[in-house]
Amino acid sequence: MASTNFSQKTALITGITGQDGTYLTQLLLEKGYEIHGIVRKTSNINRLLEHTPHVHLHYSDLADSTALRRIFNRVRPSEFYHLAGQSHVGFSFEIPQSTYQEIAISTLGILEICRDLDYPIRIYHASSSEIFGACQNPPQNEESPFRPTSPYGCAKTFATHLCNTYRRSYQMHISNGILFNHESPRRGPNYVAGKIASYAVQIKQGLATELTLATLETERDWGHAQDYVKAMWLMLQQEKPDNYVIASGKPHRLLDWVEIMFGRLELDWRKYVKVSESEFRPQEPGKLIGDTTKAQTVLGWKPEISFESLALEIVDSYSKKALQPL
Ligand code: NAP
Repeated sequence: MASTNFSQKTALITGITGQDGTYLTQLLLEKGYEIHGIVRKTSNINRLLEHTPHVHLHYSDLADSTALRRIFNRVRPSEFYHLAGQSHVGFSFEIPQSTYQEIAISTLGILEICRDLDYPIRIYHASSSEIFGACQNPPQNEESPFRPTSPYGCAKTFATHLCNTYRRSYQMHISNGILFNHESPRRGPNYVAGKIASYAVQIKQGLATELTLATLETERDWGHAQDYVKAMWLMLQQEKPDNYVIASGKPHRLLDWVEIMFGRLELDWRKYVKVSESEFRPQEPGKLIGDTTKAQTVLGWKPEISFESLALEIVDSYSKKALQPL
């Protein structure tokens, strides 16, 4: 049962320049919130301002707890969405220490800041399906064991446990959104959907000749970020904080992205797509598929955008970008 307090509509967002941050900002602006976001000196704020010009930005890094504390005291947000951090699972094998600092240690620092506030704040923490990692029996729900298989997954597991611990120990309103993979045209070619779209468009234009992937058969649960940020907001409208799995509930193979995106561009993917072990990560998770029964029952949330629409939207956005003059 949602219980919204319409007199308190100030949200503070870390990671506001990221994929989820920009969609969440759009959603909250539509709902009449005053939005404050934390950005770094190096952040590219253009994408954010292109979609949502009416936001207040404050400079800090996640590591700068003095600046963060000052921002919290100045803004006094009623809702806080903690989305920031190194978000690439594969990169976390290359840069494990900074990944851990940003995701795990910074979350601890932020929870301490929130604990010291002299008013009740509602906190959303961006957890991840990567906490389930090698979990054997899909689909996973909120009770499934944590078995991370990457430095990223380990850091998210630590931060998720911390949020549970602070919620229970200090009666804080903290919810973990255990989000399965979600994509959109706002994610770059470093991530698999963007990579496939980017190569398909380049091959169509004669700028590339092939696309190499680690596998085509790996199955994952992918949804659209625009759907998933609605669940973040719903979590903070509940009287009681809790943990929620947010997912499409449907497995899709990498091959499904390839077929839809190459098909859109009228390319026969078999001529261009290669599989190479050099693309393997040191350890891959098991079959991660989300069970959203709790989110559907308690939050009234369900995904609305299909996998096929998502794939087409992404490849179309890369096609449009390719047509723009440099
Ligand atoms: P994203 O597009 O990579 O955005 C990450 C954001 O974090 C950016 O705004 C980035 O700012 C900021 N950031 C990174 N390090 C920072 C630091 N040291 N100090 C301050 N800001 C920092 O990620 P996303 O896809 O929106 O994901 C949002 C959150 O959900 C992340 O925590 C991610 O791990 C988690 N998550 C994502 C998925 C998914 O499939 N997308 C699934 C589960 C969980 P800059 O612009 O300065 O780089």
